Amino acid sequence: MAAVATRVLQHDNDISWSASGADALARIHCGGDFDVILCDVLMPGMTGIEFVRALTPRQAASVVFVTGAAWLPALQDFLAGVPNEVLEKPFTRAALCEVVERMGARERRLRRGHEGVVRAPDTRAAFDAVADCDESAYVLARDLRLLRVNAGWTTFAHANDGGNVLEGWAPGASFVAALPAPLREFYVGAFERVFATGERWEHEYDCSSATRYRTFRMAVYPMGTEAILVVNARVVDAPHDRPDHRPDDVYAVDGVVTMCASCRRVRFPPSPTRWDWVSAYVARPPERVSHGLCAPCTEFYFPGDDPRSL
Ligand SMILES: [Zn+2]
Repeated sequence: MAAVATRVLQHDNDISWSASGADALARIHCGGDFDVILCDVLMPGMTGIEFVRALTPRQAASVVFVTGAAWLPALQDFLAGVPNEVLEKPFTRAALCEVVERMGARERRLRRGHEGVVRAPDTRAAFDAVADCDESAYVLARDLRLLRVNAGWTTFAHANDGGNVLEGWAPGASFVAALPAPLREFYVGAFERVFATGERWEHEYDCSSATRYRTFRMAVYPMGTEAILVVNARVVDAPHDRPDHRPDDVYAVDGVVTMCASCRRVRFPPSPTRWDWVSAYVARPPERVSHGLCAPCTEFYFPGDDPRSL
């Protein structure tokens, strides 16, 4: 829906989209000012119903629900009980433009009535809103030590070879120390910029498991000047269609296997620019691993650099 709506509306409107309810909530609570919020009712992680309940009544009034399942009895009851507009899928271009224009005009009228009132970011509400949700979120202090994690992060870490991650991630722990070395410079630089500029930053990254190709969208929000909120929303989740190689001694040099810190492919030493996907090593890392960055990941994180390894 995001791609279609963006295409149709971008000429007359400023558009931004969130990959999940949790990300949208964080964005709204951290001072995002939206005339109209188009919200899919059935979203992964957090439903539209949970999403709208986490908003203030004033924010909730800007929501237009989009659904292709309005006939579901549970949804019918919910939609009948709320004042929000509903846009049923498949919708026409004209219907989409009409509802956005009408809601936008209404919002501008309301705003004129509130002129002079500045909406301050409510960062505590931003974390509270995502505290129990399935998407993973955490709060870091100015020195990038961990202050809080939400329920989704703990579940995610447990489900994804999290043993190692969890050990390093009690409140007070250093985020930097928990990162694989080749990625530290990138994330520390990005997070420092959020503190310095007070502006949200986001990027999309690969976080595949042994069996699923997954990408996540990380959005980082300033919480005043003393903390940042990091929300990770799943964007793609599909079976791998890449060739899978078997674990083999050929991958080890003096017993050490070099794994890409980002995509977790392993270096093939006889041909050092080649990195193979070995799902068995992702499921159960080899005894001795050193972290590097493969060429595509180096280009992604550090455009223009040579592939690095440590
Ligand atoms: Zn890689």
